[in-house]
Amino acid sequence: MINTLIFKILSLIITIFPTKFLIKLSGKKVIYPFYHIISNNPPVHIKHLYPVRSIKQFEKDLDFLQKYFTASDFPPENKKTAFVLSFDDGLSEVYEIIAPILQKRNISAIFFINSAFVDNEDMFVNYVESIKKENPNIDYKEYLKSYKPYLTKEQIKELKEQGFTIGAHSINHPLFSEINEEEQIKQIKDNFTFLQYIVTINQKYFAFPFSDNGVKDTFFKTVYENKIADYTFGTAGIKDDIFERNIQRIPIEKYGLSAKRHIKTELLLYIVKRFFGKELVKR
Ligand SMILES: [Zn+2]
Repeated sequence: MINTLIFKILSLIITIFPTKFLIKLSGKKVIYPFYHIISNNPPVHIKHLYPVRSIKQFEKDLDFLQKYFTASDFPPENKKTAFVLSFDDGLSEVYEIIAPILQKRNISAIFFINSAFVDNEDMFVNYVESIKKENPNIDYKEYLKSYKPYLTKEQIKELKEQGFTIGAHSINHPLFSEINEEEQIKQIKDNFTFLQYIVTINQKYFAFPFSDNGVKDTFFKTVYENKIADYTFGTAGIKDDIFERNIQRIPIEKYGLSAKRHIKTELLLYIVKRFFGKELVKR
């Protein structure tokens, strides 16, 4: 993975290239930007982890995306240059802030949910750490009760009725390379069983928590052959994957850059990697 400083320097150089030129040269028809949260008041459980985008910044990102790509459901049609949006971790801002903005623009999205956290029953460990940075003695269960950072079952149901797609993000957000294959499969299966109690799931989409880095070939084969998931989604940026059903997405929030700068930089990196035959995620 390229380091932050190099990425940021490249993102400055990239301004001299027109976006259309980069899209054309990359040959990439579909891009998959993803976010977690949009908020004008970054909550304590997130603000110590990564830069949070404001509503204004998000609208600007969408202006850029809609100018050069067509918003698409998944799987996208082959004809057009398209973007497929998704949001991880099932945060309440998805319902309160993100969905209304997307609906106004007629943009669809996939929301990837951790079953253990729905209805604020529990919390992702990194969020607990972010809270503890500010309040070392806080009881995170109390925080869950008062702040309610996660979506409820009712909200998930409503999002689905609004036309959005609901996907799985594991039970409780473990790093997949650190758990064995049996546990990996269980994290997905149980997640879908839980979600299917709330909404109808026609196609099973699963987004890896953190990253699919270090996950073995045998896992992917088992998942697709046994229809544990129809498609899986990683976080490696603009890359092709040796498994066609594993879709790599762009972590827009990672460097705190605008979608325009971030995506243009990723396109340039993809062009360079392809030139050297390194555009494929291999395992
Ligand atoms: Zn996540």
